[in-house]
Amino acid sequence: MRNIVLIGPMGCGKSTLGSCVAGLTSYEFIDMDIFIEDKAAMTISQMFERYGEKYFRDRESEAAEELSGRRGLIIATGGGVVLRQKNMRALSKTGIIVFLDRPLDNILSDVTTQDRPLLKDGPDRLRQIFKDRYDIYTDCANKTIKNDSTKESAAGALIELIDIQLNQNYAVIGDPIEHSKSPDIHLPVLRSYLDNPVYDKLRIRRGELEEHLDTLRALRGFNLTMPHKHDIIPYLASISREAELCGSVNTVVCNGGDMVGHTTDGAGFFSALDSAGIEYRGGHMIFLGAGGAARALIYSACINYDVKIGIAARSLMRADRLMNEIKAKVPGANIYTLPLSTDCLSQYAAEADILVNATPQGMDGVDSDWESLEFLKALPRGSAVCDLIYAPAETEFLKKARELGYKTQNGMPMLIHQAIVADSLYLDMDLNTQEMYEKVACNTKT
Ligand code: NAP
Repeated sequence: MRNIVLIGPMGCGKSTLGSCVAGLTSYEFIDMDIFIEDKAAMTISQMFERYGEKYFRDRESEAAEELSGRRGLIIATGGGVVLRQKNMRALSKTGIIVFLDRPLDNILSDVTTQDRPLLKDGPDRLRQIFKDRYDIYTDCANKTIKNDSTKESAAGALIELIDIQLNQNYAVIGDPIEHSKSPDIHLPVLRSYLDNPVYDKLRIRRGELEEHLDTLRALRGFNLTMPHKHDIIPYLASISREAELCGSVNTVVCNGGDMVGHTTDGAGFFSALDSAGIEYRGGHMIFLGAGGAARALIYSACINYDVKIGIAARSLMRADRLMNEIKAKVPGANIYTLPLSTDCLSQYAAEADILVNATPQGMDGVDSDWESLEFLKALPRGSAVCDLIYAPAETEFLKKARELGYKTQNGMPMLIHQAIVADSLYLDMDLNTQEMYEKVACNTKT
């Protein structure tokens, strides 16, 4: 079990909550200041008086290094542990860093300043320390827990985090499933925060979800691919708004026996655009294709980013159906449809910022039967062209767009980003997207 490392200013509840939660779980509680005092055989006040602050900070760094070699600890750190990056690097090697965010007024109401060497001059010093260090705590933390109501509620949030460490079993379900890349994509992220995560591929056929529910509920979470993305919905205790609107779930988080459904395709796609510096908020995108992937991304664009959307499909009826459904569910959605023909695309592309191929044309094993790719020339300079296909890495469509000088992106960044969003839900943490992306990308070269 990875350590839980509590950070925050003095009086934020690290020792109180840490010892209370350790008492309720199999974790051992360590108060880092007491650990340092025991090793040095003197109090921290004595260290400050006799040798100065640097002496204490050096002992603190030694303690961070030593404790990072142990497992299963809840560590209440001193308020200044974050001042040295090497302390945080050491503690992160085997620990999840949790910032206990307690309002300053609550802290001031019960910290006795005269007992703390840095606070002998009174509460103004604590105010200053709080202001100076607040952003450092936030930046260092894998997770922030608000400690602004009852002790029980903050302790509950910590216990949830510990539960994630205790059940490290995940899976992707679908049929077929043998060729799924999901384990290669999720495991590098999960391994960054869990000691021994397991990520299986489970073949579950259409219509057989019900008989596997016990197995699924015993996991910490699972991803879904065809044919279950819609069929899982009746079994969920709750569902995110975006997943409910688009009627598709690709990630389920299990909380006790309850299953909570999410869709991460939209967040993944737009996070991939963010990483590539492609601006889309308030812009104009045209999707080629009106299938499952286009549907998820268009919902996300309309709900979250105020994007004008064109849907170009060989079956205009299918495109119209999708448009009408979204307009009915998302008031104000700005969508139009057009036939997937060179002339129409040329006309509308002249006004667009981003063009997205959401058809399988050009995917390995699927012929590309574009009537012509001349419509790409109509896009304004500086536009971006995306293909959701990731194998091959560059389709004929994307190659042409690159040769015409547009920014291009294939489907791999979306695939990885949607998994990182899912892992962030599994782990209940904000993840460093860029760092996680690089870890996964090394593992999934096509
Ligand atoms: P889908 O539900 O089957 O939809 C495919 C869409 O493409 C439909 O609108 C279909 O039109 C259209 N289409 C198929 N063949 C066509 C052709 N030859 N000419 C014109 N239109 C054609 O598939 P999907 O799940 O949306 O997936 C679409 C693509 O996105 C696939 O290549 C898939 O691998 C990729 N994808 C990538 C990611 C990622 O993470 N990168 C995620 C999901 C999907 P009809 O309705 O007329 O059949």
